[in-house]
Amino acid sequence: MKTKAIYPGSFDPITFGHLDLLKRSCKIFDDITIAVVVNPHKKPLCSVEERLAMIKKATRGYGCIKIDKFDGLLVDYAKKINATVVIRGLRAIADFEYEFQMALVNRSLNKKLDMVYMMPSVEYTYLSSSIVRELASLHGDISRFVPESVEKLLKEKFKNV
Ligand code: ADP
Repeated sequence: MKTKAIYPGSFDPITFGHLDLLKRSCKIFDDITIAVVVNPHKKPLCSVEERLAMIKKATRGYGCIKIDKFDGLLVDYAKKINATVVIRGLRAIADFEYEFQMALVNRSLNKKLDMVYMMPSVEYTYLSSSIVRELASLHGDISRFVPESVEKLLKEKFKNV
């Protein structure tokens, strides 16, 4: 039986860090759903539709991937699509404490769900979507961090700022 995995996140926007993790994950799992979190309390830079479109473009050719969005609890979404693994990234040490807490809370809510943590290439360990948004807002060069289509969209968003 195939193991179904979810890679959840805001992806606001998708970066080479996310893609690095996905490439690694595709070697382990053959059914991965990238699930964009729709959080009504957060005001994202890119709409859900923009994020889904950017992900679709950036992951063209990755055979193992599906793309979806969800709101509410991750454990409920996992049940709905019959996923048993959640993929998360670990950068430097900043991610550890939060992820540790989330993993144990999620496990207490759904014992069948396991979290798998992946580490990116060293050049992406400091990369986050928020740094990319900040750089783009100050008209900095983000081409090293995101695919071309993402760079274009962000440039457009900040062109009059
Ligand atoms: P969230 O709001 O859930 O943190 P993100 O889109 O920021 O959403 O991240 C989704 C997942 O991807 C998280 O597990 C995060 O740690 C991981 N991630 C993001 N950027 C990187 C990166 N540069 N290297 C490794 N993992 C990353």
